[in-house]
Amino acid sequence: MDKDIIKVTSPLLPDLGAFNEYLKQIWDKQWITNNGEFHQQLEKALAEYLGVPYISLFTNGTLPLITALQALRITGEVITTPYSFVATTHALWWNGIKPVFVDIDPKTGNLDPNKVEAAITPRTTAILPVHVYGNPCDVDVIQDIADKYGLRVIYDAAHAFGVKVDSRHSKMLSKSEGDYVSVLNAGDLSTLSFHATKVFNTVEGGAMVMHDAKMKQRIDYLKNFGFANETTVVGPGINSKMDEIRSAYGLLNLKQVDKAIAARRHAAERYREVLKDVEGITFFDEMPGVQHNYSYFPIFVDEKKYGMSRDELYFKMRDRNVWGRRYFYPLISEFSTYRGLESAAPDNLPTAHTMADTVICLPMHHLLSDEDVQRVIECIVK
Ligand SMILES: *Cc1c(COP(=O)(O)O)cnc(C)c1O
Repeated sequence: MDKDIIKVTSPLLPDLGAFNEYLKQIWDKQWITNNGEFHQQLEKALAEYLGVPYISLFTNGTLPLITALQALRITGEVITTPYSFVATTHALWWNGIKPVFVDIDPKTGNLDPNKVEAAITPRTTAILPVHVYGNPCDVDVIQDIADKYGLRVIYDAAHAFGVKVDSRHSKMLSKSEGDYVSVLNAGDLSTLSFHATKVFNTVEGGAMVMHDAKMKQRIDYLKNFGFANETTVVGPGINSKMDEIRSAYGLLNLKQVDKAIAARRHAAERYREVLKDVEGITFFDEMPGVQHNYSYFPIFVDEKKYGMSRDELYFKMRDRNVWGRRYFYPLISEFSTYRGLESAAPDNLPTAHTMADTVICLPMHHLLSDEDVQRVIECIVK
């Protein structure tokens, strides 16, 4: 029994019988992509579920980032975080934009808004923060800086599916309706990933969230080569459409995502309860006024206090078939494409380096049993 591998994540899969029914409908209609009925239904259902005014589906979570930068005609330099999945910075590179890395806040893992102003130059046009692990960024402070310097804000919200903030806690979000407001309503645009490893998946997939119908129209053109109609191409668009099969799959998964998040929460609560007493192991405090999605459970290993390095613990877990992941190690700023940039110097990013060198994301998904969680805990508690 101890031999079973406990993986860091497990894809949320729809009921196969129900999916077959939907496939049959697609086969009957013989309409398999290009804004079909399931695509339209999923956009509507997601906007409602997430509490956002407009959403456009994409074929993955990287292309909406690339397209958002195109749509807002971002150029020059963009301020961003090195503590993320590499796609965040790649999206800038694919647009010929120079990434400028700014250090992160140890309390959340997010871009430290207090360090943003010092990185602004005459070439800066936007800020690209990430709600890392689903922890909401300080969207008010970021917006104030953006307004002061005339910058755009695009959030990589790949981890923030379903994350909501008490509207009394945020000047910006309190403009949207409701007591708890989706963090996806912050900034000019936000992007989501529906990759298999995320809280909500469509196998591969993603989306962009925007504030108004005109922007949705423009994004819908851009994700379909720039076609506005049969004979008009309004700009250099790309092909990033979601098909009917994955839209149908998404509709089914949306029905069970709340249950999946509740199961994640149960595991997270158990981790917190036990690991709070382990000397040298820390994790993020629960953020007040945040309805979280429990997308990840990162712990940080203080080698001196814990008596074992992060990698020693990581490989000890491996030996016991408990597969954590070192998200996000190495930092994006350490990869060959980016490490030559001035802002990639380790001196500029001390907190990001400390976090990258000490983090392990523990297994966190909807299928973890209490016994699984116990096995993970037993690797860590000595
Ligand atoms: C997963 C992820 C992406 C990319 O999403 P894909 O759907 O895999 O293209 C982008 N940014 C972050 C922070 C991610 O975790």
